Parts: sequence; structure tokens; C-alpha cells
Amino acid sequence: MVSDAGAKIPPIPSSSDKTPVEDDKDYVVSEHIDGDSTVVSDTVSFMPVDIKVMSSAPDYNHAQMIDNSRINYVPIKLRCGVVAMCRTNVLILCRSVLKALNEDIKQCLELFPSSVHAFIKRTRIWINLTYSYGQRDNPRLLKHTTAHHAVWWLNWARDRPDKMHSIEIYDCWEYLQMRLHWNGAGLICHEFCHLIHQFALPNGLGNTQLWQAYCKARESGLYDKALRRDWAGTDCDTDIAYAMVDYKEFWSEMSVAYLSDTYHHLDKVGGHAGMDACSPPFRHPVVLERVQKRQVQQDMEDDKGIPRRQLVVAASAAETNEKMSWWERFLRRLRECFISKDRRRRKGQHRCPPCNKFYPFTRGQLREHDKGSFLVISDLWRQVAQWEDPMDDRICGPGFRRGGGRPVSDAFAPLLAPTDFQQPPEPP
Ligand SMILES: [Zn+2]
Repeated sequence: MVSDAGAKIPPIPSSSDKTPVEDDKDYVVSEHIDGDSTVVSDTVSFMPVDIKVMSSAPDYNHAQMIDNSRINYVPIKLRCGVVAMCRTNVLILCRSVLKALNEDIKQCLELFPSSVHAFIKRTRIWINLTYSYGQRDNPRLLKHTTAHHAVWWLNWARDRPDKMHSIEIYDCWEYLQMRLHWNGAGLICHEFCHLIHQFALPNGLGNTQLWQAYCKARESGLYDKALRRDWAGTDCDTDIAYAMVDYKEFWSEMSVAYLSDTYHHLDKVGGHAGMDACSPPFRHPVVLERVQKRQVQQDMEDDKGIPRRQLVVAASAAETNEKMSWWERFLRRLRECFISKDRRRRKGQHRCPPCNKFYPFTRGQLREHDKGSFLVISDLWRQVAQWEDPMDDRICGPGFRRGGGRPVSDAFAPLLAPTDFQQPPEPP
């Protein structure tokens, strides 16, 4: 990536600069804006088949595009309180996604401050078995998970406008696999962070504090070569950090790392120490197999081997008994007893603390790796914690509810400042 240290910070892109590209580019490589020039990265590769920058609109014939606006979804209320809008084939063929999603969101609610809990619970999640859009004779298949910030993309793609301000899983099988790189909840946490950015940060997507932090981080070069856990065990396990795609991804990526206040034994281990030393345990079976094969190979080459931390699923097992004093072992045993009870209560479901897919993986690592960004993200989350959700009945009571609720009394009108929650009129 081209560094432009000392260059003037470019302005935040205007939301009116709308080109028909997807609203949250969680799979598309984006441009890195360097002053007035644009540098296109060809190294960030979340999904190689989609490594294209759709910076200009394909000349689509709208009438010939797949019409996804009439797809029916069945609302399913999860135990965590969130409504999942499911395609019927999801309910028949992939019910396990609901169980995983419920667990992930419950973990997210433990990570997020209570100020956004009502917001999280009213955010709908649309779940597809498969999804494609575009020209009927040349459809584009999507597999990722995304947050819909605005309605214009949905209208352009001939999708349902009521998906605005919600999250969509385009391929539930893919979600079940991909979430393992974040050790569970981190993936859906990333998407919730996009919407928290839009609604709970001062000035929403136009927050200048975040934008300036993103520009500084980009200029620092600290994210040009970051470890990524889905590439563990391969010859090349580093890439430009996904946080560098744009300021929105910077917020979500840094936030997942910041909220992952776990795996403290890795806090001081820098990315330069290598994946084996600094990564939380892996859960994706393909990555595990690859890492195990590599370990065997290296064991054969020299007797030293590699640290086996990544082969262990439970974080507590990362610390070896030899290094622990008797009372640490006693406390650990005690903790395991409580965990066992908790596990029995949850019918044996295994939970693993989430982390980020790209380095820094955890809060402690973010603090050590990039103190400046850590302080800004930390301050922004303090602001999120103080956010007063205008649609949270616990704060305002149902009389204050906008949109679907009954009209706000005129007597209270002066108390209500305009917010991002004021919905545009429904399309005809
Ligand atoms: Zn994202």
C-alpha cells in the first residue's frame, strides 16, 4: 500500500456519492484513497472470486435483473430476542444456523454496552441459503454477510427495501464456516458494529474522530502486513489488514478486537512473533488440519517443533501446568467446575471467547500494537455506552416511539431532537 505520511487528511466521502456498489463491501477490495489519487489493492483477498473493485456501475438493464424484492421470509424470534427473517429452505436444510446465531448474538450482548442492547434486539437478520443478483443471464452469487446501511443499494439490486438497517447472511452454510475464524461471535459482532457506527456514534457514519484515526492508522503502515487466521498454516499468512479497506471497516475491525477482551496471555505477544505464538486457538477444521500437518512436517525437520497453543480449543489450556503454582492450578480447577456446571446448563454447547480474524486479534494486542487507535476506539465505545437510544422503551417509554409506534405527544416534541432513526417515507 502506498503511504502518504504527512498528506492532508481527505474529507469523509459524502453519502450522496452513490454508485451502484454494495453498501458494505465485506468481500470487495476497495480503493485506498491517497490524497487525490486512488490506489487499488490487489492483495486483500477475502474471497478471491470477488476481487474486483466495482467503482463504476456496470451498464445493467434493470428490467433484465433478477427480482429479489418478492422473496418471502419467515420471521423467527430467537431466544436472544432478535428476529431472524428466514427463507423457508433455510428452515428445512440449515436450521443449525439459528442455533449458532442465537449463541453468537447472546455473546455479542455480553460484549456490547447495555445502551445498545435494545437496538441489537430490534435489528433483523435476513438469512438465505443462497443468494444471487444482477443480470438473469449472468447472475452474481454472494456468500458473505453484510450490513445494509441504506436503501439505494437494495432498490438498485431489486431487493426488498425493508432490509435497510439490518444484517443479511447471503449463504448460511458459509456463515457457519466463516464464523469459526472469529471463534464464533466475532463475525456477527463485526456487522452489528457497522450499524452501531451509523446510529450510536455522534454524527453517525460522518464521525470525524473515527475518520482521523483511520487516516492515521493507514499512514502508520502498521496494518500493511497483518496476520490473518484463515491463512494459518500456509506459506503466506499475512495480508493488508481488512481494517484498511475503508473507515467503516476500520471501525468494525478495531471494535471486534477491542471488544475481545480475552486471551490475556497473548496481550504482549506481537504480530512479529508469528501466528503460532500470537493467535488465539483455531476452530475452523480446515485451518486446524493445515496447522497440524505443518506441525508434523516441522517436527520431522527439527525436534523443536512449534508451539502447540493453536491446536487447543479451550483458551485456558493455553497455559501449561508446569508454569502454574499450586494455587493457580487450584483456582483453575475451581473455575473449570463452574464452567462445567454452566456447560451442563447450556446442554453441552461449547462457547469459545471471540477474537478478530486479522491481527490484532484481541484488545490487549490492539493496545500494544497501535496505542493511538486503541485510545480513539476506546473513547468512541465510551460514547456508545452513553448513547440514549431514542427507540428504547426503557428510557423513553412507548409514547416516545417513532415510526411504528403511536404518534409522539406534542407536549414531548421539543424534547426529541431529530435522530437518524427518523425513517424516510416508505416507497410506494
Ligand atoms: Zn464489514
